[in-house]
Amino acid sequence: MENLFDYLPSVPDFPKPGIVFRDICPLLAHATAFSQALTQMAQCIETWPIDRIAGIESRGLIFGAALASRLQRGLILVRKPGKLPPQTLSESYELEYGQDALEMQAQLLPPGSAVLLVDDVIATGGTLLAATRLVEKCGGRVSGVVALLSIESLGGAQRLRGAGHTVATALKC
Ligand code: AMP
Repeated sequence: MENLFDYLPSVPDFPKPGIVFRDICPLLAHATAFSQALTQMAQCIETWPIDRIAGIESRGLIFGAALASRLQRGLILVRKPGKLPPQTLSESYELEYGQDALEMQAQLLPPGSAVLLVDDVIATGGTLLAATRLVEKCGGRVSGVVALLSIESLGGAQRLRGAGHTVATALKC
């Protein structure tokens, strides 16, 4: 077994002063570590009802696509505005400074589908919370949220649980 933290170096003051960035690129570049990360993520969610997997731009798409292939489920992309062709539905959310939004093609989601949301890192949880609202707006039900890593001090996993969602991560720091 690999210690996955060996492949997730902390990069201080990136991309802005004061942020400690967890770089997933060394983990992706190591075949065994990447495969083990996916196995651990899949184990967290093995009892969850899942009809579709929704991966969040951009690094959540990597883990979402790999899990979709492993679990033999369809993949839906949750992307930043203007990247997906119509028809899309949109959900906006607050950033520290300003606003951003996520978009999804609602027609790809059969009504009432159980949707697993996937991202790489849960930080403040703002992006994933917006994604849960977007799935619901598109007629799906959120079965849960899974990520490789939760940065517990930033409170995102707690925020998601407070909003009634089931959250699992392979790693916590
Ligand atoms: P948040 O909405 O704060 O949970 O963060 C949104 C996305 O930004 C996460 O899904 C990560 O992909 C990325 N992110 C935020 N903070 C970090 C961090 N400290 N290290 C690595 N990625 C991060």
